[in-house]
Amino acid sequence: MPKHQFQTEVSQLLHLIVHSLYSHKEIFLRELISNASDALDKLKHLTLTDDSFKNMNFEPRIDIEFDQENQKTLTVKDNGIGMNEEDLAENLGTIARSGTKNFLSQLTGDAKKDSNLIGQFGVGFYSSFMVADKVDVISRKAGEDQAWLWTSDGQGEYEIIPVERESQGTTVTLHLGEEGKEFAEKWQIESVVKKYSDHIAFPIYLHHEEEKEKKEEKINDASALWQKPKSELTEEEYNQFYKTISHDNDDPLLYVHTQAEGTLEYTTLFYVPKKAPFDMYYVDYKPGVKLYVKRVFITDDDKELLPSFLRFVRGIIDTEDLPLNVSREILQKNQIMAKIRKTSVKKLLGEFKNLAEKDPETFETFIDEYNRPLKEGLYSEFEYRDDLLELVRFKSTKVDGWTSLAGYKERMKEDQKAIYYITGEKEAVLRNSPLLEAYRKKDLEVLIMDDEVDEIVIPSIGKFDEIELKSVNRSGTDDELKTEKDEEREKEVKPLLDRIKEVLGDRVKDVVASSRLSESPSCIVADENDPTMQMQQMLKAMGQTELPEIKPILEVNPDHEIVKRLESGENDELVEDVSYLLLDQALLVEGAQLKDPSDFVKRLNRVLGKAV
Ligand code: ADP
Repeated sequence: MPKHQFQTEVSQLLHLIVHSLYSHKEIFLRELISNASDALDKLKHLTLTDDSFKNMNFEPRIDIEFDQENQKTLTVKDNGIGMNEEDLAENLGTIARSGTKNFLSQLTGDAKKDSNLIGQFGVGFYSSFMVADKVDVISRKAGEDQAWLWTSDGQGEYEIIPVERESQGTTVTLHLGEEGKEFAEKWQIESVVKKYSDHIAFPIYLHHEEEKEKKEEKINDASALWQKPKSELTEEEYNQFYKTISHDNDDPLLYVHTQAEGTLEYTTLFYVPKKAPFDMYYVDYKPGVKLYVKRVFITDDDKELLPSFLRFVRGIIDTEDLPLNVSREILQKNQIMAKIRKTSVKKLLGEFKNLAEKDPETFETFIDEYNRPLKEGLYSEFEYRDDLLELVRFKSTKVDGWTSLAGYKERMKEDQKAIYYITGEKEAVLRNSPLLEAYRKKDLEVLIMDDEVDEIVIPSIGKFDEIELKSVNRSGTDDELKTEKDEEREKEVKPLLDRIKEVLGDRVKDVVASSRLSESPSCIVADENDPTMQMQQMLKAMGQTELPEIKPILEVNPDHEIVKRLESGENDELVEDVSYLLLDQALLVEGAQLKDPSDFVKRLNRVLGKAV
């Protein structure tokens, strides 16, 4: 018999599921029903759009059977789209989702932490092995004659062999282990279905025997939850429905249900997960919003339904105003879709703002997870920029935790002209940067931007509420800090600066007097239109090797003891060594790597030798 190996990732995932989710065993049933429902959705769509399926007699349903006497099996059956041999191997033998390897490598072995992680991943079919020693899947794909049996004990291998099945669909039979027997009980199945799958849009029938008589009973509500009037729905129902569509085991952070009537008729039900989906930062993330037309499933794989900065949102869009056979190309150009999308985004952003006002604590959790995608939106979606500017948060030299730009503005000094920020990789390095010294002395607040997207996103904003955002990593931003005395001193020190510039030659673009330093003798900044050093490092890290070399500007603190002494000194060898040391130490505090550390050490020792 042909045996196949599970992809390594599947074996790892199986192990993880069994070890971290055992306290939520019952979710296996939710996952199987959700798969069955998806399969029914897909076939229904075909019967409405594909000529070869239009005439088929299709009454979508899900059937659950179990071995009442010996509690040995539980079966979930659907008459949906089904799978052929390749589909079975592909879907139940591998994990195609991108980022799976990376996800699995984050596992710690600590069951509690791991079960949090797995919530973001979604466990699906494989959760069956929590309750079953062996799983059989018999499936026949719609439009094909051959059926296939996939079978496995979840221990690294599976088999696929040809079998018979009377019509299209999938039958999943679980051979229950000791830990699964409790699920071969009528009341157990009913209660799990009620809890998680009541609002699956198709009927679920439970087959059982009562006094030797076979009975079939519909055990769910079988109406699309999002179509029910809001007033009839409880938070509990919303939350359970979220779990069905998202595969998350946690409640959502928030949900927004909109039923629009009038020129456009549509319903949206959106959820924000408590934890960011694990694939949020992968290019080929799985979109979380499903599109329905008149309650018929159309697609769950359209990244354009919402802008990418909202890719963490889960939920449903259902509209009355599109044709059922709408294609992806049409969707993308469609005016109705564009309107639904726009009002949905506005609605969501409005909800986020509400959250910030009414429940700052939850909003903080929200920001911890989603600040970055929202910042990306600032860069990519001009249309929502003003809303997003109200939402994004930053670290600051003046407040603990997060601040909004509006918060910063309120704290600004009367004569302060700009919003200052510093960018870089590490918060600690930034907080200790010499670039901040004068701002601290003058009691000016500076935003600490240590998120790698900040370098790109923030300069693109330009202004917030008419106030310019200024990077303190750039030359010229300290002009505002300059006093008349500084300017005089600048003239005095000019000859020394010229000499330093001569020594350093092409390692620097310029050497100028600084007004932003107090304790440190020097710092480096980028020329107004050059990328900052952090930006250059980031581009390098992203694989851009052919960057033109961009030289920094060395700023020297004219009031520093070292500088004053050099000015009076005659010793030119000392000036030379110190020039290099001023540059190299400024690079070091910015977290840069020195090109020639041994030269730095040699010069340092020579100077120390003279001082000791
Ligand atoms: P997910 O549902 O998150 O994609 P699963 O592991 O539960 O992950 O299922 C993997 C794939 O197997 C599904 O995406 C679907 O293509 C297929 N599948 C699972 N169950 C069924 C079913 N009952 N009918 C048809 N296809 C199914």
